[in-house]
Amino acid sequence: MTLFPNMVESVLSESIIGRARKNGLITVETHDIRDYTKDKHKKTDDTPYGGGKGMLMATQPICDCFKAVCKKQPQGKRYVIYASPRGRVFNHEIAKELSQYDNIVILCGHYEGVDQRVIDEIVDEEISIGDYVLTGGEIPACIIVDAVSRLVDGVLSDKECYEKESIASGLLEYPQYTRPPVFNGKEVPEVLLSGHHANIDKWRLEKSLQLTKERRPDLYEKYIKEHNLKK
Ligand code: SAM
Repeated sequence: MTLFPNMVESVLSESIIGRARKNGLITVETHDIRDYTKDKHKKTDDTPYGGGKGMLMATQPICDCFKAVCKKQPQGKRYVIYASPRGRVFNHEIAKELSQYDNIVILCGHYEGVDQRVIDEIVDEEISIGDYVLTGGEIPACIIVDAVSRLVDGVLSDKECYEKESIASGLLEYPQYTRPPVFNGKEVPEVLLSGHHANIDKWRLEKSLQLTKERRPDLYEKYIKEHNLKK
């Protein structure tokens, strides 16, 4: 639910997510909140009580939009998210949780946000995509949809694609290389050309551990503990 459906549509029509939609693996529908306003000038926002800068998205258009969305959505478990910098900070674990729902509704705020009563009435959880403030919830919504959709069966060619990746594996990914074997005098590590799979796996794990230790000591400590490895 957004005031700027084209922002969302343009992003989620391309590439892997666009293909998954075409193949019916996921359905993404954008709903224009403005279509539901009863204001004769098509207004959807108003000034905040108590003063302060900016405009707030008003209750009526959002709540009527939500009712229409619920009517249209198929049966099943539904979860309603408000994209908001006040929310739980999004990560892979949350994406996994969300991938268990049949229907996810994301409310995209704009301007100064939305009237609190809308949140109290329809929202299950506020989710933030990080400690910074954006102009609207459309980009966060696209990020959430993208990250969750990748976990839906069939969207990626193979589950391994995400299970072995940074974060999901518990570590950051090792360096990857493709042709040519030498580029600007820099050679691809010999082990990767050896065809020796056990050695390649060992090299990749070592590189992952090294990189994770340097860049994300929090993840490194957790991984070492969970896998009973020596530091
Ligand atoms: N006044 C709000 C506050 O201080 O919390 C910020 C409003 S922000 C300018 C406008 C909208 O962008 C929000 O309603 C929200 O939907 C979205 N937004 C901004 N930053 C976000 C973030 N880090 N994560 C998720 N949504 C965000």
